[in-house]
Amino acid sequence: MTLPLPIYLDNAATTPVDPRVVDAMVPWLGEHFGNPASRSHAWGWEAEKAVESARRQVAALIGADAREIVWTSGATESDNLAITGAALCHQDKGRHLVTVRTEHKAVLDTMAALQAQGFDVTLLDVQPDGLLDPGALAAALRPDTVLASVMAVNNEIGVIQDLATLGAICRERGVLFHVDAAQATGKLPIDVRTLPVDLMSLTAHKTHGPKGIGALYVRRQPRVRLQALIHGGGHEQGLRSGTLATHQIVGMGEAFGIAAAEMARDTAHAQALHQRLLAGLQGLGDVRLNGHATRRVPHNLNLAFGGVSGEDLMLAAPGLAVSSGSACSSGSQQPSHVLRALGLSDECAHASLRISLGRFSTEADIDRAIGALRDGVTRLRASPPVFSAK
Ligand SMILES: *Cc1c(COP(=O)(O)O)cnc(C)c1O
Repeated sequence: MTLPLPIYLDNAATTPVDPRVVDAMVPWLGEHFGNPASRSHAWGWEAEKAVESARRQVAALIGADAREIVWTSGATESDNLAITGAALCHQDKGRHLVTVRTEHKAVLDTMAALQAQGFDVTLLDVQPDGLLDPGALAAALRPDTVLASVMAVNNEIGVIQDLATLGAICRERGVLFHVDAAQATGKLPIDVRTLPVDLMSLTAHKTHGPKGIGALYVRRQPRVRLQALIHGGGHEQGLRSGTLATHQIVGMGEAFGIAAAEMARDTAHAQALHQRLLAGLQGLGDVRLNGHATRRVPHNLNLAFGGVSGEDLMLAAPGLAVSSGSACSSGSQQPSHVLRALGLSDECAHASLRISLGRFSTEADIDRAIGALRDGVTRLRASPPVFSAK
């Protein structure tokens, strides 16, 4: 017996794999199984060709050279390699690192692990709209600062940081600038030829590709040096050993190729659905969008519903697959560290729900979500709390 699945509005957690991506992957799981590192026969050569073609597709989406793309298992690994790899490699310069309170745990926990090893980490606050003040970054940089890490698009609230300004500050001070772009690819144009970014983490599964494959962009001019974290056969210019997962890599290449070709359409689609959802919830009153109103991707709506808890609202609307303000650190009922960093009270953070849209979200999905949320919020606001601690 299978349960009917709820309407999927949780694209910030992962996206459905585009059927075109699945089609591109299948042959490389089946008859074309060669190891791309096999140099002595055609099984290897054809796999290597597929891997290099995918590398060009991924590079093209961000304006990089294919030689600047290192395959990893996803953005978590890319964040680890960028931050720890740079910190270990450049200890002669210093042991100070800078990041932001609203980063993904893959960045924050990597920083914490380095701190436990004696590195000095500065965690910057954001403004109430979720944006980092460039002046705060400039003030935090020191002569011994090796790297600063700031995400492109926030996974919980969708705000877009000003990478051009932040990167320019780092470059001027000789500090490496790492960007976690897991939530940005296919949602906004990125061009590392003009952006002063040295390292950029990418992942396939937030952009309609498969899980378990990602990449790290490592700038060649000026060349960024890293210490490898995974040792073995010397794959990926010695930066990340291990047999390449041809089918996954082909899937990421296809997903990023489609993203490049369809970004304008995908964005317009998300924008229309975003407006439709907000308009449909208008009559409820006391609904607030968390994060900056316009410096954001339209795919994300993190909404605070006055007087209800996000957890209760999810229970009241079981037909919707969304996330609550406290669901991010799996299982914990702690309010989200991102919402707290905006200065929201625990109550307000708990009242928040993240609805995230993707290429395959439809108007019908949105209309059903509007109905379910209106019903749920109205019911919860009308009923007294089950118990009160007072
Ligand atoms: C999803 C996500 C990650 C983790 O990526 P994986 O590929 O799942 O390891 C890291 N950073 C951000 C901003 C994300 O949204």
